[in-house]
Amino acid sequence: MGIDIAKEAFTPFFVTHYKELMKEVLRTFVSLTQEESGIGLVEETIAEELKDSLLQKLEDLHSKYRNHENSDDDRSLLDTFVDEGIFPSYSFPRDVIGFHIFDVKGNISQRPDRSLEMALSEYAPGRTVVVNKNTYVSGGIFSSIINRSARMDSMAEPYFKDRAFFKEIQVCSNPACNWMGIKNQKKDEKFCPFCLNETLVTANCLKPWGFAPKNGQSVRVIKAENDYTEVTKPAYSLTPREEEMKVVEGSINLRYARKISQPLLILNKGQNDKGFMVCRLCGAAVPGDDPDVFYKKHILRPYLSKNGNIIPCRHIPQNVFLGGEILTDLILYEIKIEEERINTDPENLWINRAAQSLAESLVLAASRILDIEFNEIRSGFRIRRTNSGVTFVDIYLFDSLTSGAGYSSSLENRTKELFAETKQLLNSCPSSCESACHDCLKNYWNQQVHDLLDRFAALQLIDWCQKGEVAKDLPMPEQKNFWPLWKSLIRDGRL
Ligand SMILES: [Zn+2]
Ligand SMILES: [Zn+2]
Ligand SMILES: [Zn+2]
Repeated sequence: MGIDIAKEAFTPFFVTHYKELMKEVLRTFVSLTQEESGIGLVEETIAEELKDSLLQKLEDLHSKYRNHENSDDDRSLLDTFVDEGIFPSYSFPRDVIGFHIFDVKGNISQRPDRSLEMALSEYAPGRTVVVNKNTYVSGGIFSSIINRSARMDSMAEPYFKDRAFFKEIQVCSNPACNWMGIKNQKKDEKFCPFCLNETLVTANCLKPWGFAPKNGQSVRVIKAENDYTEVTKPAYSLTPREEEMKVVEGSINLRYARKISQPLLILNKGQNDKGFMVCRLCGAAVPGDDPDVFYKKHILRPYLSKNGNIIPCRHIPQNVFLGGEILTDLILYEIKIEEERINTDPENLWINRAAQSLAESLVLAASRILDIEFNEIRSGFRIRRTNSGVTFVDIYLFDSLTSGAGYSSSLENRTKELFAETKQLLNSCPSSCESACHDCLKNYWNQQVHDLLDRFAALQLIDWCQKGEVAKDLPMPEQKNFWPLWKSLIRDGRL
């Protein structure tokens, strides 16, 4: 058939050429597998199984998109297949983001790269990047690799027209909630799906296709300013279907689901959530939301001409958050909370401390029972209300982005063992600390949340999951105000 799946628009092609496409995809898949292993698929039975599951996934996708023939979604086949988990995302270099360095002739001489999450932080506009003892200030979104017939004077323009790179997202402005997800184009949703408040804000999200230095050049170190911006933790916004939830024997308030190829959204919202200004033509990028910044700071294109000259641009500034989705397998533990007995107000200190501490301790316990490094698995948590008045604390564990080795999936069916190990770990700090220390829960990787860590709160949440017991019922407002006192009373055995 000879199609280029990276360029072909997905929906119309997929729907009309479904059968031919199946064959083409299988061919691509087999050659990929051969490339990756170097020896091809030795075991015929494994090949058959893979083929069957691939065909099944395509079949599902076909029924999902059959009714969308006239959709204006112009994403490529490749992007759709990766997004839908038909191709494993790690087989393709599209989630590796490069920082482009030019030589005196304007050619790319070096291109160090990072995963999306690291690039969003280390290559963020305004950050200093040192490559081979030369210092650069990141100042542009640029790629030489995926050049979709872009013109030299508007290298960024095609990407701004491509929904795979530039789209609207919604972010909950309630600081105690922080839900975020891709905006549904058909509905203008105002209410947050997790905290149920009318707090959703729409923002533009640009997925960087690569980075380049300010004005395409290095800077003298003395002049280099360094604007640090933080990247949000990967956030999971989907909710498993009821039939996907599995109960855990002996735990009355706990269920779990294993999910494959799930999207986690990562954002760099810039300083004070002001985002970045990016030129829609050349991709020049600067932190903040000042539309005149390109002129005030004499910013040129982030790439050089064919002769190695710096070039001006008539810049069309666009304010964006930088970010994107990564796909990962995950296991989600859902803890049902009784609002009459536990204060579920997201501002409540106890519920946040307990959920955060349990999330961290589950990672440590998982690494113990799987015998892997604890930074191979990561965690997140969220507090979610439903319209029927039930509140859930969801804790999800996923493979850290660099490994993608399927560790979190192997925790399926081991929930009891995992929670037993977690309890053991929380109960036995070698330093018998008061809340958390470097001998139990604290480590380099979770330093952003050190203040929230409290092994006793995590233990109480486990008790709640398993037995439905709150250590001692308290009138709800007091869980917030008197929690430290309550905790010390419990520990001293006076309650
Ligand atoms: Zn919210
Ligand atoms: Zn420009
Ligand atoms: Zn400790």
